[in-house]
Amino acid sequence: MTPAPLADRFDDNVLTTRVDWMVNWARRSSLWPMTFGLACCAIEMIAVGGPRFDIDRFGAGAFRATPRQSDLMIVAGTVNFKMAERIRRLWEQMAEPRYVIAMGACATGGGPYFQYGYTVVKGVDRIVPVDIYVAGCPPRPEALLDGLMALQNKIERGRVVRKPEPLPA
Ligand code: SF4
Repeated sequence: MTPAPLADRFDDNVLTTRVDWMVNWARRSSLWPMTFGLACCAIEMIAVGGPRFDIDRFGAGAFRATPRQSDLMIVAGTVNFKMAERIRRLWEQMAEPRYVIAMGACATGGGPYFQYGYTVVKGVDRIVPVDIYVAGCPPRPEALLDGLMALQNKIERGRVVRKPEPLPA
């Protein structure tokens, strides 16, 4: 309902909203993932780009070939120590605000290599901050889309101009 002071002051088809809502809506609706994959989970990630799962429905289908044009890193696969420094560097080169999805057991905590994989980082959150974890070995493409929607919900709750609420006493 239009607030009384604004009633009848604009032509038809004018919407009023909050800056927070509008900016968060734009961010959640235009996530640009970076094009890279590390191991078998990447095959499932690639599948979401095809017509069967169609990540474009969520506005996140524009996989970019450079971190400078990306704001979403999907870590899909086993993170070796050899790759850790590169992943960190790519994350640092990404546009802000940037988000990270850890896809699968390997990216989340080392996966099947947790005990004996001396070359494997036991979770990509030791290298970069992770927003969403997707379980599975490998997760189905639907699970990655579920993680993407969870990330979108998280972005919706973000604050752009509103002051943070005080912490409970
Ligand atoms: S979680 Fe499973 S499917 Fe994914 S990269 Fe690791 S071993 Fe491969």
